[in-house]
Amino acid sequence: MKTCPNCRENAPDNASVCPRCGQSIQTRSVLGLVVRIIFAVLVSLICLGLGAFGVCAILFSNPSPVEQATILLLVVLMLPVWGLIMWALFRKKK
Ligand SMILES: [Zn+2]
Repeated sequence: MKTCPNCRENAPDNASVCPRCGQSIQTRSVLGLVVRIIFAVLVSLICLGLGAFGVCAILFSNPSPVEQATILLLVVLMLPVWGLIMWALFRKKK
């Protein structure tokens, strides 16, 4: 059994299009996965870069305690946002 990425209808394994909505099943799911992986890597790199930037800013530019707290808060807040994006990208669809 395969699941249509468009309407989530179950389709036989040998079907190339969804019996309900006509959406191409094979191509779109493979392409979608590649796009999601690329997007996930990009988001991870951006988060890592921002995190490293924040840590460097604290270490090297001698900011005030308020600025330090703000930078730390932003870096810590980024983790759940990153997790949420990863979850949205790779969650199992019913
Ligand atoms: Zn469908």
